[in-house]
Amino acid sequence: MNLTLMQYFEWHSPDDGEHWNHLSKEAGRIKEMGFDGVWLPPPTKADHPSNPGYAVYDVYDLGEFDQKGSVRTKYGTKEQLQKAIKACKDAGLLVYLDLVLNHKAGGDEKETFQVIEVKEEDRDDEISEPFDIEGYTRFTFPGRNGKYSDFKWNFNLFTGVDYDAKEDRNGIFKIMGEGKDWSDNVDGEHGNYDFLMYSDINYAHPEVQEEIIGWGKWLTDELDADGYRLDAVKHIDSNFIKRFIEEITEHASRDIYFFGEYWNPELEANEDFLEDVEFDIDLFDVKLHYNFFSAGEEKEKYDLTKIFEDSLMKENPWNAVTFVDNHDTQPGESLESFVADWFKQSAYALILLREDGYPCVFYGDYYGIDGEYDIDGKKEAIDVLLTARQHLAYGDQEDYFDHRNTIGWVRFGSEEAENSGCAVVVSNGLEEGFKKMHVGDHRSGEVWVDYTGNRDDEITIDEEGNAEFHVNSQSVSVYGQK
Ligand code: CA
Repeated sequence: MNLTLMQYFEWHSPDDGEHWNHLSKEAGRIKEMGFDGVWLPPPTKADHPSNPGYAVYDVYDLGEFDQKGSVRTKYGTKEQLQKAIKACKDAGLLVYLDLVLNHKAGGDEKETFQVIEVKEEDRDDEISEPFDIEGYTRFTFPGRNGKYSDFKWNFNLFTGVDYDAKEDRNGIFKIMGEGKDWSDNVDGEHGNYDFLMYSDINYAHPEVQEEIIGWGKWLTDELDADGYRLDAVKHIDSNFIKRFIEEITEHASRDIYFFGEYWNPELEANEDFLEDVEFDIDLFDVKLHYNFFSAGEEKEKYDLTKIFEDSLMKENPWNAVTFVDNHDTQPGESLESFVADWFKQSAYALILLREDGYPCVFYGDYYGIDGEYDIDGKKEAIDVLLTARQHLAYGDQEDYFDHRNTIGWVRFGSEEAENSGCAVVVSNGLEEGFKKMHVGDHRSGEVWVDYTGNRDDEITIDEEGNAEFHVNSQSVSVYGQK
């Protein structure tokens, strides 16, 4: 079965608290359009009602307590979320929630503690003697008043902070303590990439481990999600991630699927992490995204035969969640690298019509992006590919990656779907291109057409099961039986 996921939010999704309600209404339609699952934004209370959820304040507050300016989160209340999840389930959609485990934001009270300042570019490079700062590291959650958990956070439970309230100064401040340091089991970029932002959670502390695992079990009982997307895993002790996955999996009375954001395009870093967690998690294919981005920027100068080079899809296909863009790569956001408009449909063909990877369609690409950038969605261009994914893209795959400006591949079809099988051609060239491909001896005499509508050729498969499949300049065509 060809499962397809939708990332059901973009950075500028309206902060009117209506997102969960909107999902409740749309769930049936999302399923009809060809999606099997939705990845939802963080359900947990952030430091402000308009925050998308990554500045997480209280993980036990799913929009239930009057904290940080509202009962609801950016997306709505806990009750609305529960209803939305039920609507998704009723529609036959899998539901995955975004869990932010790396840091906390919006502490309730200041504490004074000793730190060493480190260099932004190299967190192992200490650039000060120990000194006192004031940080917002005391989390007491007065609005929740101990419901679900009476755990309170203090500076000992964090490794570092990025703000000194005493001097009103930003920096990266490593918190001192006996035997305390950045975790060794994190990405090596910037010397040690344990610290990302806000107050970095110290997973070396046993109380922290117990609290977060206890919360994960609570969440699994409280909400009927089918899986979790783990945010920023390259900044979190991989031993803890492994333990979290194991304990939640064991606790749950249903299958829980884990996928993570390890934002590093280097294959080796991804593979090291996957080994650390014994491949119990899938990862977003970040390298593939950057290949798409480069292809979009370089146009005809890009060598399309290298489009899958060093990607997880190619090297670790069983662990790859493939995507074109997301809420961080969209214009104006922290990892801005938005795939060029002209290449977008081709990029979606490259994730939706291949045999490998679990493809995820971005809300912003599908419905459009709000706010100052105001980008139109490409629903129609993607819908034709979703149709092809549902009806044609089955069976063995043969690649024709033999020309830097025109690549193609064939799916031979399978019994899973009647009359399935397709021939895909992608071009970044300045002129029309074509690819002669073999689609199967038994297809001789069939007439194939382009499901994208980009070309209106009717192609007859010859006696040997071959045909020339044409593609417009800098475009994609997806041929299947008429
Ligand atoms: Ca961290």
